[in-house]
Amino acid sequence: MDRRRFIKGILSGAMISLSGTVLYRHFGRQTPEWIERNITLGLPHSHPHDHDPLPFADEQPILEDGASQPVIGNELELDPISDEQPSYLAKIQNFDASFNDDVWLTESEKAMLNQTLKRINSVKNTIGFGNFNVVSFDEALRYGRSFSSIGEFTAAEIEFMEQLFYDDVSRLGFFGSRVTENLTDRIKLSDVDKIPRTGHYLYKGDPLNLYNKLREDVGDTIILTSGVRSVMKQFQLFMNKVVSSDYNISRASRSLAPPAHTFHSVGDFDVGKVGFGLDNFTNRFAETEEYRRMIELGYIEIRYTTTNRDGVRYEPWHVRV
Ligand SMILES: [Zn+2]
Repeated sequence: MDRRRFIKGILSGAMISLSGTVLYRHFGRQTPEWIERNITLGLPHSHPHDHDPLPFADEQPILEDGASQPVIGNELELDPISDEQPSYLAKIQNFDASFNDDVWLTESEKAMLNQTLKRINSVKNTIGFGNFNVVSFDEALRYGRSFSSIGEFTAAEIEFMEQLFYDDVSRLGFFGSRVTENLTDRIKLSDVDKIPRTGHYLYKGDPLNLYNKLREDVGDTIILTSGVRSVMKQFQLFMNKVVSSDYNISRASRSLAPPAHTFHSVGDFDVGKVGFGLDNFTNRFAETEEYRRMIELGYIEIRYTTTNRDGVRYEPWHVRV
């Protein structure tokens, strides 16, 4: 654990929070765009009453992603782990292990993460799984103020999310690009299509065309397991991963991109074999007929290969767009 770098991270986060506070003040207004967006999502666009029945009956996902995944089916040739200086490859191959130079959350950060995650999960439970995939940061805050089932995000929770979002994650051992610039960036609903029976969305254009062609060529036993993810969605997945990684935030970042660094926000998507459950998020997916056929097609590229330089485990299910 490196506490000095932690403190540095917190200081830079605090500076960024100034701009966030300004943004936050604008959230109170009901803009026509906000109203239109909520009508599209089937969500309330004026102040709902807490006793109103929730209007967001939502289909359940066939799979939830980002949950704790067992380390199984790993057939890779492993680099030996040395206590002294584990190699880069040893780390991404043994992604679920802990290493001496990993970064852990402090006790107060753990408490703040738990508190914030609880509220984010309440947003998800209130607006439904599908809507949650595309809910923006601003909208989540507004829902917090509108529903007692969520409750208002506190200044400390907002600041914690800002720190996570703008953190220099190379300190964790994650080297992937920053994909989303601003905490408040959001997904335009007119740019995405909901994929039936999955609860997930894909961007129209290349991602949707690629997915449709893939299903045409492989068959309908291959299915979308995670598509477009908003900033809020990635917070939820990442924080869950940090919890299941015993608050070792480096370990979490080896199997889930930290907020702002997921290519799901710009077009990448995950696929799996129908009925294969959470095994779809293990190396076992690479042993399926669906994977074999997908790779044989020649036009599918896997973003996180066994030798990727992003600091991420092998993800045979993650399609690069
Ligand atoms: Zn993915």
